[in-house]
Amino acid sequence: MPVPAPRNDFPGKLRLDSPLCGARGRRPGADRRKSVPNRHLMLYIVWIRATETAMPAKPPPEKMMFQLSLRRRGISDQAVLRAMEEVPREVFVEAIDRADAYRDSALAIACGQTISQPFVVAYMTEQLQLQKHHRVLEIGTGSGYQAAILSRLVEHVLTIERFRTLADKARQRLEKLGYFNVEVLLGDGFSVPSGAGQFDRIIVTAAMEQMPQGLMDRLEPNGILIAPVGPPHGVQTLVRVIRTPSGFEQKELVDVRFVPAIPGIAREL
Ligand code: SAH
Repeated sequence: MPVPAPRNDFPGKLRLDSPLCGARGRRPGADRRKSVPNRHLMLYIVWIRATETAMPAKPPPEKMMFQLSLRRRGISDQAVLRAMEEVPREVFVEAIDRADAYRDSALAIACGQTISQPFVVAYMTEQLQLQKHHRVLEIGTGSGYQAAILSRLVEHVLTIERFRTLADKARQRLEKLGYFNVEVLLGDGFSVPSGAGQFDRIIVTAAMEQMPQGLMDRLEPNGILIAPVGPPHGVQTLVRVIRTPSGFEQKELVDVRFVPAIPGIAREL
């Protein structure tokens, strides 16, 4: 909630014993006791103290650098930048990596998986050209960070993860942050339940050897899908597919490295 700006005509750091205090507007010869104590002044001071404590803390320098580096590397969509600023990445990394949460690198999470590099998260999000009313499907919940970013930009996010441990942990984090428009599902991204319907946007955050036709068919008209396509343990290409009235339009974007997508729900963990 925006905090009301202090009034310009009343200096916030006014000291009660300062020469200004009580001197302003006093008529020569006026009875001093009539103006002291100045009840309005006391109220203002209490109000200023209260707004000072309510003021949001200045973001730490590493978070400011994080924003700067996203802009420098070409992220220009203001809504995406705001979402990246709002979502606390430190909540999604392992406790041991908290100090590195705002470094632009992927980090290890449970079950041998990774939370993606922030630049790649911002880039993929920007390429999705999201609108507020969209329904988005993510394959590969991992930590839940990408889903959290999406949730700040669209109406509903369904994210699917094959590891129960990761799905449960991500769900808890998202609930704790109050991101209630994300649904986390334990499942296999290669066979999304038909009851889940069609999606305006689909984002795959695990490497697929081929463009997943089954997912392309789940796109609404004019829908967009983004997926890393290529060898499971090598360099993949981020591919964007747009569903047009006559079929699908594909464009190769940039090289990336993602952990592989594996069919089926994980039997352990
Ligand atoms: N988007 C995540 C990072 C993804 S890492 C984040 O923001 O943290 C890739 C994730 O995809 C892993 O958690 C992996 O378990 C999951 N995954 C791999 N194959 C899958 C499949 N077939 N269905 C669902 N999830 C899958």
